[in-house]
Amino acid sequence: MTSSFHPPQRTLMGPGPSDVNPRILEAMARPTIGHLDPLFVQMMDEMKSLLQYAFQTKNELTIPVSAPGSAGMETCFVNLVEAGDTVIICQNGVFGGRMKENVERCGAIAIMVEDEWGKACDPAKLEAALKAHPEATTVAFVHAETSTGATTDVKAMCDLAHAHDCLTIVDAVTSLGGTELRVDAWGIDAIYSGTQKCLSCTPGLSPVSFSPASVERIQNRKTKVQSWFLDLNLVMGYWGKGAKRAYHHTAPINSLYALHESLVLLQNEGLENAWARHAKNHNALKAGLEALGLSFIVDEAVRLPQLNSVTIPEGVDDAQVRGILLNDYNLEIGGGLGVMAGKVWRIGLMGYASRQDNVLKCVSALGEVLGRVGANVDTKKAMAATIAAYGE
Ligand SMILES: *Cc1c(COP(=O)(O)O)cnc(C)c1O
Repeated sequence: MTSSFHPPQRTLMGPGPSDVNPRILEAMARPTIGHLDPLFVQMMDEMKSLLQYAFQTKNELTIPVSAPGSAGMETCFVNLVEAGDTVIICQNGVFGGRMKENVERCGAIAIMVEDEWGKACDPAKLEAALKAHPEATTVAFVHAETSTGATTDVKAMCDLAHAHDCLTIVDAVTSLGGTELRVDAWGIDAIYSGTQKCLSCTPGLSPVSFSPASVERIQNRKTKVQSWFLDLNLVMGYWGKGAKRAYHHTAPINSLYALHESLVLLQNEGLENAWARHAKNHNALKAGLEALGLSFIVDEAVRLPQLNSVTIPEGVDDAQVRGILLNDYNLEIGGGLGVMAGKVWRIGLMGYASRQDNVLKCVSALGEVLGRVGANVDTKKAMAATIAAYGE
């Protein structure tokens, strides 16, 4: 007989999923009710206000898509882009490449504006592309590139896009809840995020929000959205109609309890306080990692506090170190993605995982393991530097 699955208690400090707050797991275990139950509908209305707060938006169409961040990405592209459209994508890491895949699968033309991995997207390059492609209808880019840990100036990019009559699609999977993000003030037309990064919720849902201009475009499409499941014209009938909502698909009830709880936690803490906590823990981790001799690949000016990419020291085996951390310390950190594979470690400080005890655990564990594999490190000095950073 197969027995029940009992996973170990790990500390998740990779690029996601992040540590889930026990209060969220507890919320998930509450009784399942019907997805058209009036009490469930009431909970969903609250969820919408909580999401509007998290996104800093008044957008009516602010909902969680019933699938992970990648489905939120796809929701934005399949609804806003039609065959033959031209979309400018600014790419500075892995996730911009996925945007290109989405655009091409819509039968549209992707104009790629490339920046070096580890750098922010350059607004000057976007401006040049907008001038060269007056036919473009949409501009897309990633706010917080999880493959490198670089952030991009969303407002500067959106201002340029609007000056050229384009709508903007922004990936905020890693930024929501971790760093400053203001959907309305920055002029974002379509945004998607994920539950398992800085919201510290279980994976599998994707909060999205659409401006009135993007809703208008969706309602006036010449062709049907090619994805039935992600067609917002249909999904709006479920989320947008209050008590009169119509069945579209069965909502993932218990996962939505979890997201509701994580947004309540965020509201109780306060967005600005959550951003400040991520910055403070990043600062201490940085002090410790640098004292271990590890260097960051992203310039401080555009570095994300929730995703710390550092160069793996010469002669140190990436998989061996991560294996020891996982098996002996129950600590997960991330390896490099794409061109960064084998070259960097990505240490996440996302949501509930962004805590002082985690930072101290990570610096001491990484120091000890580096010593075990023969690297020349002074873990004591690194711990002192980390603790000192908290005192600043
Ligand atoms: C994690 C991530 C995604 C994909 O989210 P999933 O929930 O894994 O589908 C998309 N974009 C960025 C920037 C991410 O970090």
